[in-house]
Amino acid sequence: MIIHFKKEIGSEKANQYGEQLAAFIIEKDDKFVAVTSSNVKEIDSSLAADSLESFVFENDLQLSARSYMNHTREVRIGNITIGGKTNNTLVIAGPCSVESEEQIRQSSAFLKELNLTTLRGGCYKPRTSPYSFQGLGLEGLKLLKKMKDEYGLNIITEVRDATHVHEVIEYSDVIQIGAKAMYDQGILRACAKTQKPVLIKRGFGTTLQEFAQCAEFVLSGGNDNVILCERGIRTFETKTRFTLDLCGVAFLKQYTNLPLILDPSHAMGHAYGVPDLTRACVAMGIDGLLIEVHPNPKVAKSDATQQLDRQEFKELLSTLSPIAASVGRKIV
Ligand code: PEP
Ligand code: MN
Repeated sequence: MIIHFKKEIGSEKANQYGEQLAAFIIEKDDKFVAVTSSNVKEIDSSLAADSLESFVFENDLQLSARSYMNHTREVRIGNITIGGKTNNTLVIAGPCSVESEEQIRQSSAFLKELNLTTLRGGCYKPRTSPYSFQGLGLEGLKLLKKMKDEYGLNIITEVRDATHVHEVIEYSDVIQIGAKAMYDQGILRACAKTQKPVLIKRGFGTTLQEFAQCAEFVLSGGNDNVILCERGIRTFETKTRFTLDLCGVAFLKQYTNLPLILDPSHAMGHAYGVPDLTRACVAMGIDGLLIEVHPNPKVAKSDATQQLDRQEFKELLSTLSPIAASVGRKIV
């Protein structure tokens, strides 16, 4: 549970209570919030009533909830802000995996040509088979850093497990926690200790409640910069790779305060459907998109069927602004 203390009590007293309750104290905007797994009765009798602002009981969605903060949190990604008072829908694009210097350079130059700011590309790939391409690892992170320096792009790249989380934190501007990694507490807790933005992808068998609870691990550990990413869930349908849960998106917008980015590429699994699905995503009034685009999708080392080629992506991008404008948003 979390306990809100009146700001007048000061940090010394807040920390004293923190020790008493085995709680982690977050000090933000002159407020004190204790995060603890202690039970309500212990807490009730151990605190001076005049120190308390409020309790939030019996709800595992706390810091991520609209009832805690009645607006979307603002998250800065380099020189771009999403959420908060902005109406930005940020387009993040790039290949599924970083494959070579030439491939990621072509991708970076392409983004630059389109005035886009944020490049995606995985270096630690969470593949379903051990015999598939696993990613370039640290060598890939170094290539991304090179592209950041040369092209001035923000970098988002994924962490597969806790063994390399610190490398990913060091080399990225946004840490992506993949759909298969989102329950990994080692990753979540490490990401809570940085202030870099963290994009958490929804596991394909994860309920909305569990999804938001993963965000709670990062928020309650002290990092406010959390973004949720819906990327499709598994249903009985097999013709598409996953099913993009737009009802879930409506729920998350209504009940959580976290910026939302949608990934139509992994949901659809086939390039032919990605443009229409992307337009539907933009019409939901969201904070961003994550789209896979590759210089030559046919030879891509992962997710070849779903990546757009540069022409397809360019055409798609040119259709998004009017849709965004119709829901009060701006494509950036
Ligand atoms: C990816 O973004 O390339 C990826 C592996 O995504 P997900 O974790 O959603 O499967
Ligand atoms: Mn992919």
